[in-house]
Amino acid sequence: MTLTSYFMEATYLIASILFIFALKGMSHPETARRGMFLAEGGMFAAIVGTLIGAHIVTWVWIIVGLLLGSIIGAWMAIWVPMTAMPQRTALSHAYGALAAALVGIGEFLVHGQEMSMVTRGALGFEIMLGSLTTTGSLIAAGKLQGIIYGKPVQFRGQNIVNLGTFLVMIGLAGFFWIHPDAVIAFYSMLGIAFVFGVLLVIPIGSADMPVVMSLLNSYAGLASAATGFVLGNNVLIIAGTLDGFSGFILSVLMCKAMNRSITNVLFGGFGAVVAESTSNAGGVMREISLDDAAMQLAFASQVVFVPGYGLATAQAQHAVRELAELLEERGVTVRFGIHPVAGRMPGHMNVLLAEANVPYSSLYEMDQINPELPQTDVAVVIGANDVVNPDARDNPKSLIAGMPIIEVDRAKSVIVLKRGQGRGFSGLENPLFFKPCTSMLYGDAKSSLTHLAQAVQHV
Ligand code: NAP
Repeated sequence: MTLTSYFMEATYLIASILFIFALKGMSHPETARRGMFLAEGGMFAAIVGTLIGAHIVTWVWIIVGLLLGSIIGAWMAIWVPMTAMPQRTALSHAYGALAAALVGIGEFLVHGQEMSMVTRGALGFEIMLGSLTTTGSLIAAGKLQGIIYGKPVQFRGQNIVNLGTFLVMIGLAGFFWIHPDAVIAFYSMLGIAFVFGVLLVIPIGSADMPVVMSLLNSYAGLASAATGFVLGNNVLIIAGTLDGFSGFILSVLMCKAMNRSITNVLFGGFGAVVAESTSNAGGVMREISLDDAAMQLAFASQVVFVPGYGLATAQAQHAVRELAELLEERGVTVRFGIHPVAGRMPGHMNVLLAEANVPYSSLYEMDQINPELPQTDVAVVIGANDVVNPDARDNPKSLIAGMPIIEVDRAKSVIVLKRGQGRGFSGLENPLFFKPCTSMLYGDAKSSLTHLAQAVQHV
């Protein structure tokens, strides 16, 4: 081994340790930021180690790639708003997976014939996972951005078509594994994997998107791990495996939060019931004035805020913290109920509230806050909709039936802050808004909360 390859292995070891600590850090909101810095450090070490230790054919393309990647990355970091973070994350998965697929094609072109069967097997996985994750993530990003139809796209015989495509793809991979000179089988597997990515994600929509996102994250990680096996690169194997399995664990947790079976989501809606969704919503929505809402809050003993996607779009996290502080100064007990899929990405509400310095001790997970709600005088729903929709609990025919919710309708009264009659991500009507205990305070969440805080001061 040369000195440079020793250096490379040492930086890979450091990078791997940093990745492990990074994951540990990201498991809690308080240490998540530190975790991200550690991950960045690990990635930097891995890149420097590779550039110094590996055999570089030409620097030109590396510099072009570095500049292009940095410009796109900086653009995404600076200009993409926080509310579009899920689409941005889906795009990142697509880029990572496309990189894995392209490296795989390169390896096939250069070393395809002389690869061992083990390496060829890994190459097959890399190509399949990389390609299907690329198109799957692009479809997910398009759905989340609203560029393409966001609802589940289901058609007669879909399960058979999907299963058939999957089996053909696996069959071609097997053929290529046995016959390394089967160029047509290789490129057909590549093409079918791209198509399978689309088929995998189009039947998924409404409230299931968070699970798909974390699953695609997992696939992208596993594609990178397979790339590591093909290239004989340890840090790619370790980082890809960590990413793949942490993404998978997150998918399982998200499934639990959505009350969905992992196998159902794993196979892209195989076995999904194409039922006619119905809603229990009906009647009239009762509007409340700002002063009446402020009065209710000021004289309450316990208030629970339930934030959702609207809090993120309105950037109302600072305004809600200020209102919470004012209420606490008046002796009101204030809590925040956090649904695991509120907003548009895992931990979305935690990140926003942490940014506004809302203490962690005030944040209650869904299972902790639900028993508190019957004793709560006012539950304030801030731009949340699906995560408080009682149809998920009461209506087996609802599209989101079985998804656990924050049961604000069990509180003594509910004030909903939203701009108008807009529906949530699932596109369903919400019977909560028509219940006798509920009143609506219309307007942008940030402006409503700011005005509420002013009104509370005058009570
Ligand atoms: P939601 O169901 O999407 O509802 C958000 C509500 O906020 C809308 O009804 C909208 O009504 C209101 N709103 C929007 N902008 C607002 C503003 N500026 N001020 C006040 N209100 C505003 O949100 P959610 O209850 O948080 O549920 C999250 C949904 O997203 C779930 O279905 C979940 O499955 C899905 N999802 C989650 C993730 C994740 O990882 N967390 C990822 C992808 C999808 P108006 O238009 O009337 O104002």
